[in-house]
Amino acid sequence: MTKPTILTGLRANNDLTIGNYFGAILPMVDMAKQKAGEYQINMFIPDLHSFTTPINHDELQEQIMNNARLFAAAGLPLDHDDIYLYRQSYISAHSELTWILNCFTGVGEMGRMTEFKDKTAKIGDDRVSVGLFNYPVLMAADILLYNADLIPVGDDQRQHLEFARDIAERMNSRFGDVFVVPKPVKEQHEFFGKDQGLRIKDLQDPTKKMSKSDDSGKGVIFLGDDPEAAAKKIMSATTDTEGEIHFDREKQPGISNLLEILTLLRGGDLQQTIGEFEGQTRYGEFKKVVANETKAFLATFQERLAAVSDEAITAKLRASESAMTQTANATLRRAQQTVGLRPKDS
Ligand code: ATP
Ligand code: MG
Repeated sequence: MTKPTILTGLRANNDLTIGNYFGAILPMVDMAKQKAGEYQINMFIPDLHSFTTPINHDELQEQIMNNARLFAAAGLPLDHDDIYLYRQSYISAHSELTWILNCFTGVGEMGRMTEFKDKTAKIGDDRVSVGLFNYPVLMAADILLYNADLIPVGDDQRQHLEFARDIAERMNSRFGDVFVVPKPVKEQHEFFGKDQGLRIKDLQDPTKKMSKSDDSGKGVIFLGDDPEAAAKKIMSATTDTEGEIHFDREKQPGISNLLEILTLLRGGDLQQTIGEFEGQTRYGEFKKVVANETKAFLATFQERLAAVSDEAITAKLRASESAMTQTANATLRRAQQTVGLRPKDS
């Protein structure tokens, strides 16, 4: 009996932030650790998705490897038999199935995707690539090739997951059972637990989210930041003039953000952190605690990252890519037979 498959990926097109770490990488690694055994876990590096918007291609290879190293440094057990870690572009079935699915996808359907409309508005019509337009089709292929039914996604990817279900159902109803249809979003939420909605805020402007593509980077702690420099960013974080520490996201967004960051860094409980500092009046001393914790966290994490063996990573990638090529090619073959590209009995 094959185990049900959980599939998840994280696109890295810049150094990642502590927001990405606590909001995405760590939960992914924890989920993989918890569910492996009962489920097959496909963690992949969506490298073909990396340049749907313009990037510096000289850096891509290093970013792909770093993405894999980050998972390992965050505790992904590379030796677990149920956990696969692979690069999308190393399994050519992703590109091949995408082409087939493209021909059953409506232009209107892609044009209606909220993310496409948002990004187009941001980067301008003339810089938008066909790749950005139809990347939901590639994402559908990423999922369907492995018969994955559980895919944890945030709200921004919900529409794309629904498309993966639509195209699978469309192909199945036209050609018979070709694809496993992923579970509806509601069931996904029930399975993974409703998104905790964790959002670390920018240190300079705590009303907005900390983002890796922020231009100045002043309010952002990157995982690769020099620990001393990161501590300084914490010390110059925007606070307020209330003069007393309280957890109040509306009135004291800066202080509240620092309380949350401290809790995450310590791996503790928010109420406990609040209890420790509630009512204190010396913001400087409180910031110092957070700054020191940030420094220690980055120093330790960077050490762990440096200790990740590239040989171990490469061996894991190769083994997973070879195993997943088999699974993906079997699905691709079904799709090829279905549309008449291969004889039915091949
Ligand atoms: P960009 O500026 O390129 O959009 P980003 O930092 O917002 O970068 P994404 O690539 O959009 O990162 O998201 C990657 C993952 O990190 C997602 O799962 C997202 O929910 C999570 N994430 C991003 N920013 C934060 C944050 N500030 N706090 C918690 N989680 C975050
Ligand atoms: Mg984002």
